[in-house]
Amino acid sequence: MTIRTISDELKEKYGRKVLKLSLSSGCTCPNRDGTLGWGGCSFCSEGGSGDFASSFAPLSEQIREAKKRVDHKFPADMPEEDRKYIAYFQSFTNTYGDPERLRKLYLEAVCRPEIAVLSVGTRPDCLGGDMVRMLSGLNRIKPVWVELGLQTVHEKTAERVGRGYPLAAFADAYQRLKEAGLTVVVHVILGLPGETEEDMLDTVRYLARLQPVLDGIKLQNLYVLSGTRLAAEFQEDPFPIMTMEEYTDLVVKCLKELPEGVVIHRMTGDAPKRLLIEPLWSADKKRVMNLLNAKIRHFTK
Ligand code: SF4
Repeated sequence: MTIRTISDELKEKYGRKVLKLSLSSGCTCPNRDGTLGWGGCSFCSEGGSGDFASSFAPLSEQIREAKKRVDHKFPADMPEEDRKYIAYFQSFTNTYGDPERLRKLYLEAVCRPEIAVLSVGTRPDCLGGDMVRMLSGLNRIKPVWVELGLQTVHEKTAERVGRGYPLAAFADAYQRLKEAGLTVVVHVILGLPGETEEDMLDTVRYLARLQPVLDGIKLQNLYVLSGTRLAAEFQEDPFPIMTMEEYTDLVVKCLKELPEGVVIHRMTGDAPKRLLIEPLWSADKKRVMNLLNAKIRHFTK
């Protein structure tokens, strides 16, 4: 089993560390504004599943502020012109809005010399032909990654968490994005209520069989965050939460299902600590990553 992480990929391609700037496109989500639902997916926090993003402001201002949050990760003597970033629009549904406004915003991002990649998080049911064409046009200027929040292939779980679209919508959007030449990264949540380990592995197996082959995957454990519907559900009728041992074992099993070439963008999440109810072990990301890396080393020997 060979694991290729996104930092390996970026270092190889750009010869250096490339940092993410969490930015806001000012979009909401059809699952939050009443079009499909009001409360959002049951696990989604008020920040729209991206709690580190800037608040909406002119792009140059957001970029300036986001750089201040991450620049300490570059060597202190690295000249500014050598610093490269991913313009990362993660929170909410970043293709849900006026196409012309979004085109201008994303064009401004990709035209900036320090931006190496544009990453747009969205839902598969918000990717009409005009949006895919717009993203494909930007992809000719700089690489564009489209991040799809699938979470699970199981309709029963999707209904329980209120995701608001069927698997068929994902399959359709995936094909159209790949035909348009875009890089597709899929989010999966491990530990959704009611799912067994086999159910979670089935989601990863489905992604492993996709043609064309999936570009990247983000695996993360379910968080119960304060203020979400999931928190109310959990407090009323607690469902099992994986231990760190169980979670890290499961991630290794998921990695073993994936074909070579799928880039691993994430193996554990970064929940906002002030909102985190469970699992509390996930707040210590360094410890989780150390354990995961030890298990991965053991399996790749
Ligand atoms: S689709 Fe994304 S932004 Fe919308 S409610 Fe669900 S998790 Fe939140």
